[in-house]
Amino acid sequence: MQQVASIYHRKVGDIVVTALCDGYLDTSYDILQGITPKEGEKLMKNACLQSPPRISVNAYVVRSQGRTALIETGSGNSMGSTLGHLNENLRAANITPQDIDKVLLTHMHPDHSNGLTTDDGKRIYPNSEIIVHENEIKHWSNDSEMARVDKRKQDRYFRAARKQLEAYKQQLSPFTGGGEVFPGVVAMPMTGHTPGHTAYLVTSGNDTLMIWGDIVHVPSIQIPHPEVTLDFDSDPHVAAATRKRVLDMVSTDQMLVGGMHLDFPGFGYVTSYGESYRFHAEPWKPLF
Ligand SMILES: [Zn+2]
Repeated sequence: MQQVASIYHRKVGDIVVTALCDGYLDTSYDILQGITPKEGEKLMKNACLQSPPRISVNAYVVRSQGRTALIETGSGNSMGSTLGHLNENLRAANITPQDIDKVLLTHMHPDHSNGLTTDDGKRIYPNSEIIVHENEIKHWSNDSEMARVDKRKQDRYFRAARKQLEAYKQQLSPFTGGGEVFPGVVAMPMTGHTPGHTAYLVTSGNDTLMIWGDIVHVPSIQIPHPEVTLDFDSDPHVAAATRKRVLDMVSTDQMLVGGMHLDFPGFGYVTSYGESYRFHAEPWKPLF
């Protein structure tokens, strides 16, 4: 029953990017806004995919100039046994948590940042600087923002993020406007899903990869229909506008993309199709 380790290496110029799967989450159409369950089901069935959607969760290791960064940490033990497999996949790739020089976060949601610590709040990446947009720290630390949401969301989002921030308070390196945060990796703030949501652009030579974080959660629905938003978008209107802008950019430039909720191994291209878009997963390459 046990699949082989979920590790996939890809070169971007001289940089090696390794996709690692943290697992998956079975969800329901209730999380989607701007589409009926019936319409959602039709899109999933047309794509021959499970309905309601199964959401993949990935992280990426970036090795550049002798240093190692990890983009996202998965969910740790916090979201059930279908998730939280990042560390066993890191081990299978011969990477230890101590090897990670920097953790780059696209934002602080449980499936992205809860894997920073053990259940009892101990750091898993002791040598790592934490790169995160300062709006994430401000937002999740803000008591009046927390008071606006129900108890479940307070625990799941605000208290979880605070636990991670507390554990790494000596190692936080917040950024504001973006710029290079690791050799060959530039942070590009893309607000909407959360106030500090950020994509990372990996560039070496003529090659570019955009790791776009949570620009989409359900690719087979939100790539053809960028207007479909999520129950847990901080600002759904801005999230949809950002998604449209990014899809436009990567399709015009034919830019390789990676994403936390693209199906493993999580690389591909977007093309435009009338007013809509299509995703084309990149085939597995046996040599890299
Ligand atoms: Zn996510």
